[in-house]
Amino acid sequence: MRVLVVEDDASVADGILDGLAQATVDALHVSTGQGGLDALSTYQPDLVLLDLGLPDMDGTEVCRRIRAVSQTPIIVVSARDDEIDRVVALEMGADDYVVKPFGMRELVARIRAVARRTGPTVAEPAAARTFGALVVDTRSQKVTLAGEPVHLTAKEFELLVYLSADPGAVFRRSEILHDVWDTNWYGTTKTLDAHIAAIRKKLGDPGWIESVRGVGFRFGEPGAQ
Ligand code: CA
Repeated sequence: MRVLVVEDDASVADGILDGLAQATVDALHVSTGQGGLDALSTYQPDLVLLDLGLPDMDGTEVCRRIRAVSQTPIIVVSARDDEIDRVVALEMGADDYVVKPFGMRELVARIRAVARRTGPTVAEPAAARTFGALVVDTRSQKVTLAGEPVHLTAKEFELLVYLSADPGAVFRRSEILHDVWDTNWYGTTKTLDAHIAAIRKKLGDPGWIESVRGVGFRFGEPGAQ
């Protein structure tokens, strides 16, 4: 998970970055609103922590501009404990509002809560999902096929959970690499292919994960489409 921190106060930013590092959350810090808007496409954060008082533009304006192009969750972090600001921020599309000073544990808990609420890629799926003879249980981290356990590696399991979250939907390679491997590095595409091949082999039928030429992959029960 990647968090973009838009904060002009260096000491506040340092505290947040330390806290996120301890919670093993990747973060990028920028100190202006424009920097935040730029980083939205270059860094592709899963969540934005946004200060309201920025040197170049008001945080609510940054919020509005982010919402115009993206659904990335936003938590407003502000020194202004003002109900008006809170309402404006939420109306501009922010998902939550935290008032300075705050504890890092609280902030990390809020980040995880917002991520769970908003993002299918970081959400914890409810329980076991059944696709014909295949059962993918995210709670027990087990996969069975016709009642027999299928032994997947952690990454293979993660990839299967990811693809099977939306059966029939085509997932782009870049999307999968970003969400499952947390990278945009093109070289990883070979790793992706190797994992897909391994899952197909273990499931005994390549039809579970269909290749969509030039685009990516689609999960589905073989022969059910
Ligand atoms: Ca500020």
